[in-house]
Amino acid sequence: MRQIAIIGSGPAGYYTAEAAQKQWGDDVHVDIFDCLPVPYGLIRFGVAPDHQSIKGVSRRYEATALADNVRFVGNVLVGRDVTIGELEELYDAVILATGAPHDRKAGLPGEDLANIFGSAAFVGWYNGHPNFAELEPDLGGGTAVVIGNGNVALDVVRILAKTRDEFHGSDIVSHAIDALDGSSIRKIVVLGRRGPHQIAMTPKELGELGHLTRATPRVDPADLPAESEDSTLEPGQRKSVTHLRQFAAIAEADRSAKPVEIEFDFFAAPKALIGNGAVEAVEVERTRLENDKAVGTGETYVVPASLVVVCIGYQTSPIPDVPFDDRAGRFANEEGRIRPGLYCVGWARRGPTGTIGTNRPDGFAIVEKVAADIGEGSGKPGAAGFDRLAEARKLAVVEFHDWQRIDEAEVRRAREGSPREKFVAIQDMIAAAGKG
Ligand code: NAP
Repeated sequence: MRQIAIIGSGPAGYYTAEAAQKQWGDDVHVDIFDCLPVPYGLIRFGVAPDHQSIKGVSRRYEATALADNVRFVGNVLVGRDVTIGELEELYDAVILATGAPHDRKAGLPGEDLANIFGSAAFVGWYNGHPNFAELEPDLGGGTAVVIGNGNVALDVVRILAKTRDEFHGSDIVSHAIDALDGSSIRKIVVLGRRGPHQIAMTPKELGELGHLTRATPRVDPADLPAESEDSTLEPGQRKSVTHLRQFAAIAEADRSAKPVEIEFDFFAAPKALIGNGAVEAVEVERTRLENDKAVGTGETYVVPASLVVVCIGYQTSPIPDVPFDDRAGRFANEEGRIRPGLYCVGWARRGPTGTIGTNRPDGFAIVEKVAADIGEGSGKPGAAGFDRLAEARKLAVVEFHDWQRIDEAEVRRAREGSPREKFVAIQDMIAAAGKG
């Protein structure tokens, strides 16, 4: 019997568990650890609350979670409650699937002014992550600046722009929908350091900005390359650029019908965040492209900003005693192998790129490597050994059936039109699990 520990219960974790089941059938036991009492990581805390169909993938993970030889070991923080070294002693393979939950810093002067948030914090706030539930962004000013031209920037822009009614059917948490309902933001500036052809936004998500109740996107036609150049783009990117062209063509009369404007500012690299206590403006340098890279032109200007959300990508959280690649922001690894018996998968292996589905082949690939390395397993104690350790340390482990009680309680307390009202405090989750 092989004993496998997977650290992290997001997409990479569950796809890896699914791959382990396919690889070894009943000849494996998988423990999936999570520092929170609730599973699914990015699906619960990263995917936008108004993208419920994407969140539906968790039903597939549930099928894996309910198998007899797979166990959810929630509310256990690796590095605090148990060390990596202890897990390596207990299990034939330890696979880090911890994702990339931390913001990459932009390294800008003034980044520590109030009302500037990284996307992990801001997204965590509206998705009810316990670490960010108390964020209290001030939405009382007039202009928000969102830095970055990726899908996370798009999520943040859309959430800032939507009306209460447009959140019908979403699981946005009450503290966020109430705050957004009272928002005074009337202009959202999206800063991209490169141009329309270089955006990292996918067409479906970008297209949504064209259908908002109270907001209209604005693109300066002068920023768009000649239409003939779109033929050089791959089809998805071409569709995204077509959306930008449609936004550039919106007539002023149609624009004025809606009170909120989403302005795309391309070739615009942030240089500094300016303010006195709280942020008031962003200093921006105009750029041009050289070999596809943004190069400053020396021309600068100032964009007023009462709120700034920096959406420039994520990094993995280091774990004591695990080699880390600081520059890449993920564990140092060779195609998923960190050292004998220790592996990484998903964003923790390759950095924060690709779709949720990209993690499935990643999970299957790492299990193939583990299979080649560990053979039949070496009789390690695995789950039973961890249980002894958990008992000795009095850890309040939350298992999958406990999570199902939390889940039911969240569904029961949902406001009208919402699938659930998430608990945002760990102690409330544990109480709902009946473990308080
Ligand atoms: P991303 O796709 O890597 O985009 C990051 C953006 O930040 C890029 O536009 C990048 O510009 C810009 N940037 C990086 N460093 C910068 C700096 N120092 N100054 C200014 N701009 C900077 O990252 P993401 O948006 O965080 O998304 C992460 C992953 O999750 C992606 O694979 C994304 O597609 C996925 N995701 C998908 C969905 C969805 O499908 N609905 C939703 C959310 C996230 P350059 O290109 O110039 O580097």
